[in-house]
Amino acid sequence: WEDVDTYIFTEECRENLLEEKDLEKDLDDAIEQGQFKVYLQPKVCMENKRATRAEALVRWQHPTRGFLTPGAFVPIFERAHKIGRVDLNLFEQTVEKINEWLERGITPPIVSCNVSKEVFVHNDIWDRYFDILERNTKACPYLELELTESVAYTNFAQVEEVLSRIHEYGCGCSMDDFGKDYSNFNALIQLPFDLVKMDKCLFDDGFPEQTQRTKFLEDIMTVFKHMGLEVVAEGIEREEQVVALEKMDCDYIQGYYYSPPVSIEEYERNWLQR
Ligand code: C2E
Ligand code: MG
Ligand code: MG
Ligand code: MG
Repeated sequence: WEDVDTYIFTEECRENLLEEKDLEKDLDDAIEQGQFKVYLQPKVCMENKRATRAEALVRWQHPTRGFLTPGAFVPIFERAHKIGRVDLNLFEQTVEKINEWLERGITPPIVSCNVSKEVFVHNDIWDRYFDILERNTKACPYLELELTESVAYTNFAQVEEVLSRIHEYGCGCSMDDFGKDYSNFNALIQLPFDLVKMDKCLFDDGFPEQTQRTKFLEDIMTVFKHMGLEVVAEGIEREEQVVALEKMDCDYIQGYYYSPPVSIEEYERNWLQR
């Protein structure tokens, strides 16, 4: 009975639920009408200071609610088991853009798309992914999939199979948000990831000022190197952090220090290599 108030269905709960249901209903239209937009955030290569990689992050240009960032709808579609359709839609748009860049004679960055846990529950979604890769072989070397460590944690055998198929097409894969939840070293050892993305929480305010933490992160990066993984540091905002990461031999930096996620038009203006 102590927790009884947790279960009271208040007016606020009701409104939230109705709003969730509303957004869910908008999904078909959103996909059909191209309301999901690909935003790109550069991952700057420390060796040559170029944005040789980028991450595709979804934004929703909603007809009545305005411009929505993932926090406002990704968790809702996750709960509704519909996020796979959003992931796939973003992936399709990314492939199209890479094809367009290739046709224009531009060397595209390697663009990573987020794949949520849900995609591993519905095998038919993977068939769609493989189908797209099959039909777009020229784009494959410029594609990467980001899986969170919780994905690898829950569906080990399946992830293994999917990753090896992805590799057959020449497409890469990274473990996203390492250090945030489980920090699953076992998955990193057993599964053929190409890169590991160290979560921004590891680099929050104390980095690089707290020498113990910085030393720890440096050692972790050395371990990743020994495992043959390239390292991306996420959420880097300050110059001192960039300097420290360069000293630590970090491969890529992604964060507001270089750029927030930007529209494709802005990415083309500021980051695309010609
Ligand atoms: P994520 O995949 O870890 O993406 C990185 C998030 O960190 C992005 O937030 C990015 O804007 C933010 N970020 C980057 N640099 C900095 C920085 O220097 N400081 C701070 N404070 N934040 C930074 P965003 O775009 O709001 O996306 C949030 C999360 O939503 C993503 O985290 C990802 O888990 C999810 N998401 C985004 N797009 C998709 C998608 O297409 N499919 C799925 N399933 N999830 C997505
Ligand atoms: Mg990501
Ligand atoms: Mg991440
Ligand atoms: Mg993260």
